[in-house]
Amino acid sequence: MNLDLLEKLTQTFGPSGYEDAIRDVIRQEVAPLVDEVRVDPLGSLVAYRKGTGGGQKIALAAHMDEIGVMATYVEEQGYVRFTSIGGLRPLNCVGSRVRFANGVVGVVSMERRDDVNSMPALQHLYIDVGATSREDCPVAVGDPGQFIGPLVRQGNRLVSKTMDDRVGCYVLIEALRQLKETPHEVYAIFSTQEEIGLAGARTSAFRVDPDMAISIDVTGTGDTPKAHPMAVELGKGPAIKVKDGGMIAHPLVRDKLVAAAQEAGLPYQMEILLGGSTDAAAMQLVRAGVPSGCVSIPCRFIHSPSEMVDAADVENAITLLVTALRV
Ligand SMILES: [Zn+2]
Repeated sequence: MNLDLLEKLTQTFGPSGYEDAIRDVIRQEVAPLVDEVRVDPLGSLVAYRKGTGGGQKIALAAHMDEIGVMATYVEEQGYVRFTSIGGLRPLNCVGSRVRFANGVVGVVSMERRDDVNSMPALQHLYIDVGATSREDCPVAVGDPGQFIGPLVRQGNRLVSKTMDDRVGCYVLIEALRQLKETPHEVYAIFSTQEEIGLAGARTSAFRVDPDMAISIDVTGTGDTPKAHPMAVELGKGPAIKVKDGGMIAHPLVRDKLVAAAQEAGLPYQMEILLGGSTDAAAMQLVRAGVPSGCVSIPCRFIHSPSEMVDAADVENAITLLVTALRV
C-alpha cells in the first residue's frame, strides 16, 4: 500500500468549494496514467483514459472535497464562531483542531452550558485561534477551515481525517495505475462539492454523458457498540451498494460489480445504507438517466477527525474496480 500517497491525499486542504490544492496533488498523480486531463467549470478534475474499443462510456467518481468549518463571526474577545461545510456533528468537533486556508490553527471548544442533558449545537461552539480581540484575529468571516487528524497505521487499520473521500480518490488513482487495458472509455471524475450537494459529479457527468456511472466512496458499518443494525463490517471486504438514502443502485451495475468480485475471488459485502448518499445519486439523474452504482469502502467514525478504514478493504476495492473495468 502506498501510505505516502494516502497521507498526502488525506492531509491536503480542500473543504467543499476550495479544492484547488487537493486538485493539484491529484492532477500530478493521474496525468501520467491517462490520455487527457481537464478541469470542469465547478472545479472537478476529469481524467480520461481511451478504451481499446467495443466498450461503454463509464464515469467513475470519487469526491476530493472534505467537510470543514467556515468562520461566520468574530467575537470581541477574538473567538471565532463558525458554520459547517458539509455534515458536521457538534460532538465530533469539541476538542478537535482546525486549520484555516492561511495556515492558522484553532481549537474547537464549547460554551459552558447550564443544560448538560441536551446535545450541543454548532451555535454553542467556538474556535480559539489565539487572538485576544476582534482586531488581532487572523481569521476573517468567510474563511474555510479543515479538521486536523494525521494518518496513523495500526495493524491493518488506518486512521485519518478525511478518509471520506480521499481514500476513494486513492482507490481511483491506484485503479488507473493498475488498469493496463480496457475496452471502455473511462472518465475518472475527482469531484468537487459532494459534501454540500453533489455539485461537481452532477455537472461533470452531464458533460461526459456516460452509459454507466460508479462512485467510489466510504460507507458506514454496523460493527461498533450500539450501532444501527447494518450488514457491513470493517475488514470484510469492499461493499457493493444496493441502496442508500439517495438512490437504489441499478441492478446492472450492482451485478457487474458482484461478478467482478467473484471473478477476482475477493471478499465483498452487500451494502444498504439507511442515511446519506454519494455522487452516484447525482450521476444517475443527468440527461435521460444513467445506470449507476457504488463501490464503497467500509469506514468507522465518518465525518469525525478520525475516520477508520481497513487496509485490506482498500486494496480489494482497487482490485474490484480494475476487474470490473476489464470486461
Ligand atoms: Zn463521501
